[in-house]
Amino acid sequence: MSVQTVSSWGNVIHAEQAVFRVQSRMDAFPDVAPSRSALPYGNGRSYGDSCLNVGEALLQTRGLDRFISFDSQTGRLACEAGTLLADILRVSVPAGWFVPVTPGTRYVTVGGAIANDVHGKNHHHAGTFAQCVRRFELLRSDGRRLSCSSTENPEWFAATAGGLGLTGLITSAEIQLRRIPGPYVDVETLRFANVGEFFTLCAESDRDFEYTVAWIDCSSRGKQLGRGLLQRANHAPAPPGMRPVRQRRLTMPFTPPFSLVNQLTLQLFNSLYYHRQGKRVRRPEHYESFFYPLDGILHWNRLYGPKGFYQYQCVVPSSAGREPVTALLETIARSGQGSFLAVLKVFGSHDSPGLLSFPREGVTLALDFPNSGERLEKLFRELDAIVQGAGGRLYPAKDGRMPGTLFRSGYPRWQEFTQFIDPRVSSSFWRRVMENA
Ligand SMILES: Cc1cc2nc3c(=O)[nH]c(=O)nc-3n(C[C@H](O)[C@H](O)[C@H](O)COP(=O)(O)OP(=O)(O)OC[C@H]3O[C@@H](n4cnc5c(N)ncnc54)[C@H](O)[C@@H]3O)c2cc1C
Repeated sequence: MSVQTVSSWGNVIHAEQAVFRVQSRMDAFPDVAPSRSALPYGNGRSYGDSCLNVGEALLQTRGLDRFISFDSQTGRLACEAGTLLADILRVSVPAGWFVPVTPGTRYVTVGGAIANDVHGKNHHHAGTFAQCVRRFELLRSDGRRLSCSSTENPEWFAATAGGLGLTGLITSAEIQLRRIPGPYVDVETLRFANVGEFFTLCAESDRDFEYTVAWIDCSSRGKQLGRGLLQRANHAPAPPGMRPVRQRRLTMPFTPPFSLVNQLTLQLFNSLYYHRQGKRVRRPEHYESFFYPLDGILHWNRLYGPKGFYQYQCVVPSSAGREPVTALLETIARSGQGSFLAVLKVFGSHDSPGLLSFPREGVTLALDFPNSGERLEKLFRELDAIVQGAGGRLYPAKDGRMPGTLFRSGYPRWQEFTQFIDPRVSSSFWRRVMENA
């Protein structure tokens, strides 16, 4: 055990925590002092405090990185829970298999992907990550090892998928990969003039394209409100004569003394990016640059300076209509805040397997914001009111500040969930959203 200053991806919190390294899936649950709670920690790619346990203990799982088995005929892969999706893809893609659901970075662990029940650009096709998980082992602090699947201990499967690490330590998992014809994706990028056109394009695209996602210019207003670029894509064989072009790697070498993202750079970048191409462009892309554009710049989160940044990701149900999305975009544009990382996606109707899984049928909006203190919190309160009024919710993996009332209204099964929490496990996020419950 060592005491370390640990932060999450948003770099807002840097706080001391006792770190216990888990090195083998056979290890007992770490012997954390009885007065302290523990929380599993994957690769810290959550933005706020859901992977932190300030003043308490973390169970660092990156040592659990062994492959257990891989059947290249069936695509069934078993590995320890600290294995990164990047490590899986390095082995599986040359054999013609891909992770069926992947978030926008491949530097997440399998345990972290289960505990947040992560989603990708193909939610409308494939649902969430837990849908490709056939089984996992859950180690409880009393030493019990539960094998969990849709048929074995299914109630523990449902509590742990999206369960924010609170039900115990996932030690290993078995995943069903999906066949691909090679490392390429056939990508079409279409410019749309406003949020209305976004909805029309999505409705047209979701049936024929496995992956659809839009970048939006969050500074645009009026008739151009919500303008952006929609990408729609399918896995495809490598085009004849195509030489493999892998992702280039750059590094943000240090944290600048102030955020490089501000109103001026934002408007300039957004306008240039929006006009960077013609109305419609189609080309093959290597999977790395298509799925993980941000992984091309290591430590890009340092761009936001020492105060860090927040991401606000919400989903509003389709039943609420398009008005809440328009209202969110108008409120953000009016505030002059936001960043170039702004994403809009329509979630499909798959039921998420977890009691606390974030995705539900509707529209999800995700935006990064430099941490500007009270000015930003005022904007967040306005956005919260729109989301709550529409019956929506925020994504805990991205959150570091939502009020407990919003969490509890957005996740009506939270009380049912509490019976599965390991008595020796807690997190900063959970204590925060449960205050005054
Ligand atoms: C650039 C970027 C893009 C992203 N894009 C997306 C996206 O498109 N879709 C999406 O859904 N998310 C996205 N995310 C969020 C990210 O996928 C999740 O936060 C993911 O869970 C992080 O995994 P991690 O291994 O870093 O886990 P951590 O962030 O360290 O932990 C996440 C949670 O998992 C728990 N946990 C970790 N390991 C275990 C274990 N072995 N047993 C039990 N619990 C465990 C932790 O307690 C914590 O609650 C993105 C993040 C980044 C930085």
